[in-house]
Amino acid sequence: MERTLAIIKPDAVQRQLVGVIISEIEKNDFHIAAITTQRLTAAQAASFYDKYRATPFYDSLVATMSSGQLFVLLLEKADAIQAWRRLMGPTDPERAEPGSLRRRFAIDLQQNSVHGADSPETAEKEINFFFGERG
Ligand code: UDP
Ligand code: MG
Repeated sequence: MERTLAIIKPDAVQRQLVGVIISEIEKNDFHIAAITTQRLTAAQAASFYDKYRATPFYDSLVATMSSGQLFVLLLEKADAIQAWRRLMGPTDPERAEPGSLRRRFAIDLQQNSVHGADSPETAEKEINFFFGERG
């Protein structure tokens, strides 16, 4: 079993897509080990995406990620990190496979509905960011 951190982003929560996304997570045999809702402050969103501080999209990314409620999930499955990234599809929804979550639900490159950790190291860091001791 591997674990990963998934987020249903504010654009998807606002459009009431939480149920359909969690349904896809269950259909794809992930175990939901923990789930929480959270509204990030701008400072917390800035810290979460700190490695993008130098990019031109950083300020608007921080603004969109702190614009509303998040659903944050700790997922478990064999090869969970890559399996969740496959189900999400690539960052740019226009490049995503037809059945993927980003192809189905993303508004654009930035408001792309879901987040997933990209390596075992970031998964543990992100799980700790949101779940701390409970992770
Ligand atoms: N993002 C953006 N513009 C870009 C690239 C990324 O707004 O040109 C946003 C987008 O919301 C993305 C997040 O920044 O999900 C993190 O980028 P990353 O490259 O880590 O993509 P992900 O891991 O989410 O696929
Ligand atoms: Mg990433």
